[in-house]
Amino acid sequence: MTAALPRLVSATANPHKMAEIAALLDGLVEIVPRPADVGDVVEDAGSLEGNARLKAAAICAATGMPAVADDTGLFVDALDGLPGVDTAYYAGPTATYAENRAKLLCQLDGVANRAARFRTVALVVYPDGSEIAVQGVCEGMIATAERGERGFGYDPVFMPLEGRGRTFSEMSEEEKNAVSHRGRAFAALVDALRRRAAEPDG
Ligand code: IMP
Repeated sequence: MTAALPRLVSATANPHKMAEIAALLDGLVEIVPRPADVGDVVEDAGSLEGNARLKAAAICAATGMPAVADDTGLFVDALDGLPGVDTAYYAGPTATYAENRAKLLCQLDGVANRAARFRTVALVVYPDGSEIAVQGVCEGMIATAERGERGFGYDPVFMPLEGRGRTFSEMSEEEKNAVSHRGRAFAALVDALRRRAAEPDG
């Protein structure tokens, strides 16, 4: 069954994300890096799924191969779902991870309801125009202060429900991947690729 799964070109040019995705798909799907001469697309679709589709479609068109892209947002209940689709740019277009976290903690200063969730959409676009879209969700809470050293982005302030009070930054990479939005999205993607490969014309 695995042999029938396609090679996928990754839409990400970020080596950290490429390595994480390759680890999540390890042994199940062959993933190849995006060609160096293909530029970034403007992610202006207004939704995680729309942005993932823009990225995967651009790489598929440039390479003629099935392409995979993902897009993630952090949705905080007390902020009516912000930062949402703009999670990477919460504190401004050139904001660092630390600046984004500082803004989030400031916005939630004194707020009792800390419920939040990460959502990742993973999407494959095929040369014939068909696609697979799946998502992974990780429910949790925003901590009142940063804790831990590992990871990136909002990891020091996000406590997944399964983390027994720890932030993602206080968990090992394996523990994080087992419950994370991206881990769940790529597990769902492998299932969907298997189902497609098992179809008569897959
Ligand atoms: P992207 O769509 O994967 O680039 O994610 C958008 C933004 O969400 C990133 O710039 C990070 O700030 C944040 N983010 C995505 N995944 C994670 C994660 O696993 N931990 C913490 N922050 C994340």
